[in-house]
Amino acid sequence: MPGTLYLLATPIGNLGDISVRALEILKSSDLIACEDTRRTLGLLNHFDIHKPLTSYHEHNKKSKGEYICTLLGDGKNIVLVSDAGTPAISDPGEDLVKLCIEKDIPVTSIPGPVAGINALILSGLSTKRFCFEGFLSVNNRHRTAHLSSIKNDSHTLIFYEAPHKLRQTLKDMANTFGGSRKIAIVRELTKVHEEIFRTTLEEACLFYTENTPRGEYVLIIEGAQDSPDNSEPCWWDGLSVIEHVDEYISRGEDKKSAIKLCASDRNMQKRDVYNLYHKQ
Ligand code: SAM
Repeated sequence: MPGTLYLLATPIGNLGDISVRALEILKSSDLIACEDTRRTLGLLNHFDIHKPLTSYHEHNKKSKGEYICTLLGDGKNIVLVSDAGTPAISDPGEDLVKLCIEKDIPVTSIPGPVAGINALILSGLSTKRFCFEGFLSVNNRHRTAHLSSIKNDSHTLIFYEAPHKLRQTLKDMANTFGGSRKIAIVRELTKVHEEIFRTTLEEACLFYTENTPRGEYVLIIEGAQDSPDNSEPCWWDGLSVIEHVDEYISRGEDKKSAIKLCASDRNMQKRDVYNLYHKQ
């Protein structure tokens, strides 16, 4: 009988946020797969847990994923943790989950902190409908295409960002969404310097011209309020750009016209839709 892969959430700052069940599962596991063994070792030492560790990250996920599945197939119980928070959210855990599902290996989760959700509930912005956007690409063209593709989205938007990219990201967001769009800049959640700055994109840009970004950030952006696209729901609300193009193709359009129609619906450049569509 195969073992189980446990997707186990760890604290995003305050170690007191680990759950009783998480500690039990870590103690009873055969192996712990983690992004950074030194970081996870620090966490385990704090709780006096001594278990073998193996690294599983972006650069070894193919070979290591197969290795982990072989051990699971041999009946070992393996825990997957990320550097902080919930694994498979903006880290390669997603690929391991897919591989286990393909191989009929049981997967379960040990829930706990997620930075994006905690930032959202503290933002004061609408939590009714939201969309997790993760990290923006470092490639300028992809960043712009990503932001343009969601500028009329009425959902609250959740982004992760590194401090050294924050200024540029705020500028790009202000240029695309407009300076008056509300933002909650949530930093250092659950840590001593936890801070929530509820402001507009324009003011956020000004603030960070004079202040150096430090720590870990989640950006919560208000959904589009006054776009004509939002006065009445569009049939393509909730579809990604790729799904939007595919929907036109399934209605009989060829790829070129489907991309053109999608670009026109979303008020985007055809080239940006083309790039997003062919990136899949
Ligand atoms: N798996 C994690 C989760 O559950 O949220 C996120 C991993 S992602 C690689 C790391 C990013 O999460 C950081 O760059 C930052 O944007 C966000 N993050 C993690 N911890 C945070 C904290 N304590 N405060 C604010 N943002 C945090």
